[in-house]
Amino acid sequence: MLSTMMQFPLTLTPLLDRVERIFPHVEMVSRRPDTSLHRQTYADFARRSRQLASALRRAGMQPGDRVATLMWNHHAHVEAYFGIPCAGGVLHTLNLRLHPDDLTYIVTHAEDRFVIVDDVLWPLWEKVAPRVAIEKTIVVSWKGGPLPEGVIDYEAFLASGDASEPLPTLDENAPLGMCYTSGTTGKPKGVVYSHRAIVLHSFAVCLTDGLGLSNRDVMLPVVPQFHANAWGLPFASVMAGTKQVLPGPHLDAANLLDLFVREQVTLAAGVPTVWMAILQTLDANPGKYTLTKGMRMLVGGSAAPESMIRGFDRHGAAILHAWGMTELSPLGTVATVKKGIEDGGEDAVYAARSKQGLPSPFVEMRAVSDTGEVPWDGAAQGELQVRGPWVAASYYGTEDTSDRWTEDGWFRTGDVVTIDKDAYLKLTDRTKDLIKSGGEWISSVELENEIMGHPAVAEAAVIAISHPKWVERPLACVVLKPGQSLSFEELREFLKPRVAAWWLPDLVEYVDAIPRTSTGKFLKSALRERFKDLVSNA
Ligand code: ADP
Repeated sequence: MLSTMMQFPLTLTPLLDRVERIFPHVEMVSRRPDTSLHRQTYADFARRSRQLASALRRAGMQPGDRVATLMWNHHAHVEAYFGIPCAGGVLHTLNLRLHPDDLTYIVTHAEDRFVIVDDVLWPLWEKVAPRVAIEKTIVVSWKGGPLPEGVIDYEAFLASGDASEPLPTLDENAPLGMCYTSGTTGKPKGVVYSHRAIVLHSFAVCLTDGLGLSNRDVMLPVVPQFHANAWGLPFASVMAGTKQVLPGPHLDAANLLDLFVREQVTLAAGVPTVWMAILQTLDANPGKYTLTKGMRMLVGGSAAPESMIRGFDRHGAAILHAWGMTELSPLGTVATVKKGIEDGGEDAVYAARSKQGLPSPFVEMRAVSDTGEVPWDGAAQGELQVRGPWVAASYYGTEDTSDRWTEDGWFRTGDVVTIDKDAYLKLTDRTKDLIKSGGEWISSVELENEIMGHPAVAEAAVIAISHPKWVERPLACVVLKPGQSLSFEELREFLKPRVAAWWLPDLVEYVDAIPRTSTGKFLKSALRERFKDLVSNA
């Protein structure tokens, strides 16, 4: 055997050391609940993360213990992202938009021992606390004033730790964090990330043909830090020494645009609904906001309509479309434009950018139909299956999930896709959202993206309703922009040149808003429930 390289574990700890030594003056800016800004440097961040690590260990946290966070996006939450795992604990980010019953289920299921909560989220936590077995509650005090009885102030807790205490040596396969899927499909399921997975994922985030995150960027995650650990961006930003701008609880378009301009943000990340609101605000206020030249807006979680990508280009900002899942830490593919695509002209470039993109190195993908793996021809559909070093191998504490992993070791995503000859993935639907009309599949995602391209439409979701002959037919649920109108006939005329004739919706329902999941995705199950008695006779 030839001797090769050192055994050097891929863990977060060297990243913390590095940011402290190499980028001590780079800033982290957080929007406080009162909208004022809090600023600290990476030197402060590293010291405080070490204090947190030490305080947790002194308080009895053992390797592998889960420490929950119920927090908005801000500096203390990023400290938890490093302080907990670097002490050997497991960062468990809780979704603050969930019902107390679901939180109770998740905290109990994960066996969380400690929790760190924002005081402004206390009214929610208060409903969970008596029902779970948390041993120590640490509260980040934004409002000042007395804290609830029996809890510890976050700053006092940090002060009980010693930043100079050496961090433990960790195995790269040790657990780092966990996240529960938001549950658009059944009960929430927990995914446990290893240090190795998150470190490798951070490299993928920093690749030029990934998200291209670098020290020169200013990164703002609109995506909440509980959602698949904010898409890996806080971790990758520490790796790259990237300035972080954290919006706290203020996620409305005006507050976000204010931060984009004020802090010269170059990369922001969120689900499409966030970007729709921002695009509408930009369109409605020409010249008011000057975005940083070349700003990238990372969109994932749901499909980015082409009309939105074109819309942001008019404001000098580039949408970067990516696909991911909680089970993938979460990044799987990014729609960067491969050399040569531009030879096909502007439309070809937009078509590529609207797809979910090319897989990251180490993320292997295949699309499988009833008859086996489908060809990469951009037409044949199959269920997307993936494997790789940051793909979950199981769910935490859940017995029978064998249906999600194939016998030959691939994870079944539940997404229906095509893959084209250039290897671009295109998501047509989630298996359960497909509309089966006369035995043929209609892609609800594609149909809604076309409808959202109409200038009068603010947003649209398409679901199946029953039909006596075709079994299922599409119903368009449309939210109009204020003061706009669009008749059913006008909508069909608009769609005719854009989709196959048999895809045209049979009915339209005008709704005030599309119901959303806790992570801002369209909650189609609520629409299906609302319109379950609707039958098409067209
Ligand atoms: P949940 O499963 O609870 O919605 P996730 O955030 O893990 O939580 O969701 C992953 C799913 O989101 C994917 O399986 C896919 O259906 C959808 N998704 C993610 N990114 C995109 C995208 N760019 N376009 C379309 N759908 C996406």
